[in-house]
Amino acid sequence: MIKGSCHCGAVTFEILEQPDFVITCNCSICRRLNTRWAYSQRTKMTLRAPEGATHAYVWGDKDLEFHACKTCNCTTHWMATDGSRYALNCQLASEADMEGVRVRRFDGADTWELLD
Ligand SMILES: [Zn+2]
Repeated sequence: MIKGSCHCGAVTFEILEQPDFVITCNCSICRRLNTRWAYSQRTKMTLRAPEGATHAYVWGDKDLEFHACKTCNCTTHWMATDGSRYALNCQLASEADMEGVRVRRFDGADTWELLD
């Protein structure tokens, strides 16, 4: 299991099985946030983000909300605005929990394909 939390502990998550891989992305937001994503469609996971604990950044097509903790400002997850899927930022997990998890590079800036 991979456990993660923001720095202050208001938002926590658990990834129940080790994912095949997590994603780094070079799109305009991910490259700035330096995130590593695990996706709800691929992996069993739970997110505990109490109502009001995060603020959301939405722009452009407005199909994703990028959430960060209101208290400590860590980027915790993104959520589809229709609620259909989400992803957790594995930078919030310990190095020990992430050991052996492959990190794959996704070209979100251009082709929307994996680069490796
Ligand atoms: Zn926090």
